[in-house]
Amino acid sequence: MKNLLAIDQGTTSSRAIIFSPEGDILAVRQKELKLHYPQSGWVEQNPDDILADTLWACEGVLGEVGDVAAIGITNQRETTIIWDRDSGKPVYNAIVWQDRRTADLCASLKAKGHEDMVSGKTGLLLDPYFSATKIAWILDNVDGARAKAKAGKLAFGTVDTFLLWHLTGGKVHATDATNASRTMLYNIVEQRWDEELLRLFNIPQSILPEVKDNVADFGSAALAGRNVRIGGMAGDQQAALIGQACFEHGMVKSTYGTGCFALMNIGGAFKRSQNRLLTTIGYRLDGKTTYAVEGSIFVAGAAIQWLRDGLGVFASAKESEALALSVPDNGGVYFVPAFTGLGAPYWRPEARAIICGLGRESTRAHITRAALEAQGYQTLDLMDAMRRDSGREPEVIRADGGLVANAFVCQFLADMLGKPVEVPKVAETTAWGAAVLAGVSAGVFNGLQDAGKRWKAARRYEPRMDVAKREALYTGWKKAVGMLL
Ligand code: ADP
Repeated sequence: MKNLLAIDQGTTSSRAIIFSPEGDILAVRQKELKLHYPQSGWVEQNPDDILADTLWACEGVLGEVGDVAAIGITNQRETTIIWDRDSGKPVYNAIVWQDRRTADLCASLKAKGHEDMVSGKTGLLLDPYFSATKIAWILDNVDGARAKAKAGKLAFGTVDTFLLWHLTGGKVHATDATNASRTMLYNIVEQRWDEELLRLFNIPQSILPEVKDNVADFGSAALAGRNVRIGGMAGDQQAALIGQACFEHGMVKSTYGTGCFALMNIGGAFKRSQNRLLTTIGYRLDGKTTYAVEGSIFVAGAAIQWLRDGLGVFASAKESEALALSVPDNGGVYFVPAFTGLGAPYWRPEARAIICGLGRESTRAHITRAALEAQGYQTLDLMDAMRRDSGREPEVIRADGGLVANAFVCQFLADMLGKPVEVPKVAETTAWGAAVLAGVSAGVFNGLQDAGKRWKAARRYEPRMDVAKREALYTGWKKAVGMLL
């Protein structure tokens, strides 16, 4: 049996997909996941829903296809869950990566001059995005949590770890190197939980999971009446890097889902970004780390969702394409969708979105077009920073995520970046990346490169905008960002 089960627990949905070794989808089950916004800047999810939906999806696909060789898990990163080791019950909701409640704590640590030390060890910046300050918040704000944690009664995990714990019946408390690299507690230079960081954030070591390679023995799950080995794990963006087969130094993938995340493979040497990008673990196999530089933008597709649900501009995200194309240009309208602060390369957690350049002639079509164009401008901001950091230019951008269904977005990306944009045949790159890791563990693939040989482009968009027009548009964007800052 060579089929592979990928668990893809994302921000907006929980899914299970069974892939053939060629990347064909044999079965899929998916459930939308609710986000809760208890206060401005706060974003939470119910961990019980995350677990129940994931189990439901796994049982469903296994019921349909039958046996699989192994399971790979991929997940929304940084989202923080703390649970009781005895009951398995969470002590608080999951605090989602987008949550900004710890912005003040981060600002005060930064003001005290700690960012340099943190960045040097983790490759990250002192931002609420990462798990460390979310963990501290739960320990400080949930009654009795800190005492229980000190007594070794609580466990912390990102979503991968929480799912793994429950899939293995509480036997395995582990994560993988990529997920660990997003906690801001893991030293990615020395590959270990870092005592100085634990002290800085006041987090007891006893709550932390064991950190494994991306291909490892993660135990086995009792699902649909059988035991299935869990052999692979990676955070969603790293899984997409693997699913997009970016195994050479300088290769880039860019994912457009709720947020936008561009990762460039930078090889085996840790290097700190000089342009406020993140350095992170791309993957770690047989103890050998490949690093990546990452640009994270918190809002990409979420801006389209907001136009749909918040403003009621259209009934389905799909309509945004025709609407944007119904006007010849953006009419001078720019939309900087910083609903939850600005990420790379600006890092301003307190910033909020703006729409500017509106005139009496502006319509919902211009605003929609501006929201889609924002994907191109935001990516160009990242690529400029990557170029300055690495001295390398990717030859092509391998793009994926829900938004690449939108041909206007893909073409605009190619135009703004001045590079071809390729959309892969296996569109579910994140889930596929998890399947690849599981496949390597089970011997279905003879290493990552072997799996990568299967990568094929489904569509390719060539840049065709003239330089003057591109520069004029980008200048408009820079002005809009300037206003917001
Ligand atoms: P995630 O994995 O972060 O949950 P997905 O990769 O599934 O997200 O992408 C979903 C996002 O893509 C949503 O925010 C949705 O608004 C957007 N989206 C989906 N289809 C389109 C489309 N045709 N045009 C524009 N946006 C789209």
